[in-house]
Amino acid sequence: MFHDIHEECGVFGIYGHPEAANLTYLGLYALQHRGQEGAGICSSDGRQLFVEKSMGLVADIFSEKRLRRLPGYMAIGHNRYSTAGSSVLKNVQPIVANFALGTLAIAHNGNLVSAPDLRASLEAQGAIFQSSSDSEVIVHLVAQSKGADFYERIAHAVTQISGSFSMLILREKELIAIRDPYGVRPLSLGMKNGAYVVASETCAFDLIGATYIRDIEPGEVLIIGEQGLESLKILHSQRKAFCVFEFIYFSRPDSNIFGGQNVNEMRKEFGRQLARESRIDADLVIPVPDSGVPAALGFSEESGIPFDFGLIRNHYVGRTFIEPKHSIRHFGVKIKLNPVRQLLEGKRLIVIDDSIVRGTTSKKIVKMLREGGHAKEVHLKISSPPTIGPCFYGIDTPTRSELIASTHLLDEIKKYVTADSLAYLSLDGLKKIVPNSHNFCTACFDCNYPISFPGEHHKQMEFLFK
Ligand code: AMP
Repeated sequence: MFHDIHEECGVFGIYGHPEAANLTYLGLYALQHRGQEGAGICSSDGRQLFVEKSMGLVADIFSEKRLRRLPGYMAIGHNRYSTAGSSVLKNVQPIVANFALGTLAIAHNGNLVSAPDLRASLEAQGAIFQSSSDSEVIVHLVAQSKGADFYERIAHAVTQISGSFSMLILREKELIAIRDPYGVRPLSLGMKNGAYVVASETCAFDLIGATYIRDIEPGEVLIIGEQGLESLKILHSQRKAFCVFEFIYFSRPDSNIFGGQNVNEMRKEFGRQLARESRIDADLVIPVPDSGVPAALGFSEESGIPFDFGLIRNHYVGRTFIEPKHSIRHFGVKIKLNPVRQLLEGKRLIVIDDSIVRGTTSKKIVKMLREGGHAKEVHLKISSPPTIGPCFYGIDTPTRSELIASTHLLDEIKKYVTADSLAYLSLDGLKKIVPNSHNFCTACFDCNYPISFPGEHHKQMEFLFK
């Protein structure tokens, strides 16, 4: 049995606001793209923690009545990403647990590469786990620590785990934000009417009218309490490893991440670079919505080929990739996208998408553009390099053998997706665009994994590398 190693997710927290739960609800709503499987909010009134969580979308889970059951002036919330085999309520966060020093709740975005080992040794010592989520390991480490006070216990726990973690912890009287020393997942600090807010992405600040202050630094443990902010630096690493896939696909374009860099602008630049690298004569540039839109605009601007929306997306279906059941995924593309024949008929198209994973989506889109759209030529261009390595740090990718670019040559992929031509952004081109690219993890494109895999995790790694 492999543990759940796919933990993308979004987190939001607020300290010092009378409407903490309502604002957390809104924050999670803005972060819904980071996870649609389930969501939860835990609040505190200074004496006691309250929690409400369910499977489903934020707007469906939280009724007014449910939000009223979350009193207090501080709260944390979590959106969970859907993965096969673990779609169960017990894995929905925040995880709440009692321990010797009171109660704590944890909301975690990331993936702990050391979790299988730690879990095995904690279980050997008698720990009983409620879920299959990696994040629960942290709770047990805090609970078992012999540290004199809570901060010593936190230090004990976070120095034992490795992997990616952008994490929020709520106690009766404080909120703690922790980011792994590599800074793999984004985590930002903001302020609203004197209250501190923390979120995976700044789009959550925009919705609630909060101002961005700074990122939680890689390796920082930030305690937000009655005394204000206290920052501890207890985690260190040789390098940073910001996830470049946050720029390519995962974050929202209106968010500013990794030191306040705008995701939309970055994606447009990827598109411009792609146009410089692979010039081709065509009549129209169309994006695969929504993730391909900024890159397609950049491509169009750089190449001078007009842009239009040739594929219309039905926004009322979840992302097909996320659907846990195979049968639904196969229907996915048709349910989600439809070509505009009047626009596409007889045209030579450049179609821009952000990435190819298995190749299933691209194949269906090319077919759809030819059969439904009556396009003359379909040239597929991808605004990231070929995805050849599975992610162990929190992006949901399949095993290596399922990644089409790791098992097939460019020409074979082109044939598989039935495109007239296929081009990817080069890795050098990507690194040229991303400022300080040496601070980024690009393992999905070069298999250069910055955080090593201890003991048991090797087995998972080997499994995914098959
Ligand atoms: P595939 O059909 O497996 O090649 O998936 C490619 C499509 O999935 C592209 O349109 C991407 O925008 C999207 N995609 C890429 N990575 C992810 C991810 N980690 N989660 C969800 N969707 C993704």
